[in-house]
Amino acid sequence: MPPADVNALLPSENLASGSAASKAVTVTETGSAILQLSGIEKQYPGVDHAAIADISLSLVQGEILSLLGPSGCGKTTLLRIIAGFEQPQAGEVWIEGRAVARQPPEKRGVGMVFQDYALFPHLTVQQNVAFGLQSGWQRQGRLRRANKARLLRKLPQESSIQARIQETLELVGLAGFAARYPHELSGGQQQRIALARALAPSPSLVLLDEPMSNLDVQVRLRLRQELREILKRSQTTAIFVTHDQEEALSIADRIAVMGQGRIEQYGLPEEIYQRPATRFVADFVTQANFLPAQQRELDLWETEIGCFRVQLMGLGKMQPGRPTGAR
Ligand code: ADP
Ligand code: MG
Repeated sequence: MPPADVNALLPSENLASGSAASKAVTVTETGSAILQLSGIEKQYPGVDHAAIADISLSLVQGEILSLLGPSGCGKTTLLRIIAGFEQPQAGEVWIEGRAVARQPPEKRGVGMVFQDYALFPHLTVQQNVAFGLQSGWQRQGRLRRANKARLLRKLPQESSIQARIQETLELVGLAGFAARYPHELSGGQQQRIALARALAPSPSLVLLDEPMSNLDVQVRLRLRQELREILKRSQTTAIFVTHDQEEALSIADRIAVMGQGRIEQYGLPEEIYQRPATRFVADFVTQANFLPAQQRELDLWETEIGCFRVQLMGLGKMQPGRPTGAR
């Protein structure tokens, strides 16, 4: 059984100490978890450090989690482990309560959206969106020859496939584009088609790997909002990977900040922004300025620009105070 208790280990060192966290943050929650990861570790052959070092987290139905971290911190590796394209050396992945270690990617009920869209250039929008649905249909069709009576009941009708394609294109706001080819669409439209293709089979979970990083700024800003609305309207559970702090803060319900294969902090966007748990998070998420400080009283810190009251709210949390003006 997957872990079901609340168990949040905060980093042992706090921001005021000025050093990065040395312990992983483990996050598991109660509730109907769609995804649970427990103690995931991954080291690529010939590499002297782990790409993923002891990651545990969980995701409930309908939640959008952003994995936020700099390039090379292990975001894509973690998505590939969840999707089944990579095997971890340690740890377990549960999707809808099922351990999926032995399941190939196509059996995991996970949709993926890639940075470069990965649309099939020779297929129309309609055929691209149909791809996931039809491959399931054809698989069942092949099996049908082996066991006609049993599988006839499961075979989706062509008309229901067409209806689902139409429904998904409407969801992403591109209902009139079914006959176009990818090269006849803008970058933002191509990415919405890629999203439609991932959503069409109604996956348990959608993984989006930096889906907007190839788009120009204007399109990215608009698509941020649209993406969140589409995922919420379809009640899709999603992991959205990005190295862009603003993108994570505006799209996600929760954020896991990653650094060097670990989760440095997990929480609501406003918690991450207002109470960074480590220097790394403060630096990466808020581009904070750091000042050397001497503790003068329990909550009074002296810096070269004045004294500040700073209440340390337990391990790893910080509540900024107001400058006192005193020196
Ligand atoms: P991110 O998506 O956050 O940029 P990745 O998951 O792609 O990070 O990479 C994490 C680390 O693992 C990096 O140091 C990267 O160089 C390394 N890495 C990724 N894929 C491979 C691979 N196939 N073989 C060896 N090292 C890899
Ligand atoms: Mg990546």
